[in-house]
Amino acid sequence: MEGECEVCGRPVRRLVQVTIEGSVVKACFSCSKLGTRVPMHKPRPRGTRGFRRKAHFKKPEIVLEPIPGYGDLLRERREELGLTQEELGKRINEKTSVVARLEAERMTPSEALAKKIERHLGIRILEVVEEQKEGSYRPSGGELTLGDVVKIKRKR
Ligand SMILES: [Zn+2]
Repeated sequence: MEGECEVCGRPVRRLVQVTIEGSVVKACFSCSKLGTRVPMHKPRPRGTRGFRRKAHFKKPEIVLEPIPGYGDLLRERREELGLTQEELGKRINEKTSVVARLEAERMTPSEALAKKIERHLGIRILEVVEEQKEGSYRPSGGELTLGDVVKIKRKR
């Protein structure tokens, strides 16, 4: 055990846990003679517990996706606020054409863009969906064949 002697303050390679006048201290070898040695494995007094390793939980795989009809929602809200597509574009720092494409749902906003829109317009256009697990993908028409699996893998 390495550290500083709690009695004389010297950095030492080996510390000895001792009881001096009722309190448990870690001391260097010479200071340890002042007290009574206690075994290191004895539990330390309350409140001085070492940090425990946090339990590691795997987060469920979720993704945010624009809700169906987000384009209409966006347009309605924009009109409510009395903004033109151009004005809204300026507000969210996007081109007018981006706003137009979003309203027509000809463009799927990235999560960041959607969140920006939500913030500026005070609407929700994202919903939480569970991520498709890998391997649950099936081409239309039934079971995967080994050939399909190979094709899918090559695509990546
Ligand atoms: Zn010492």
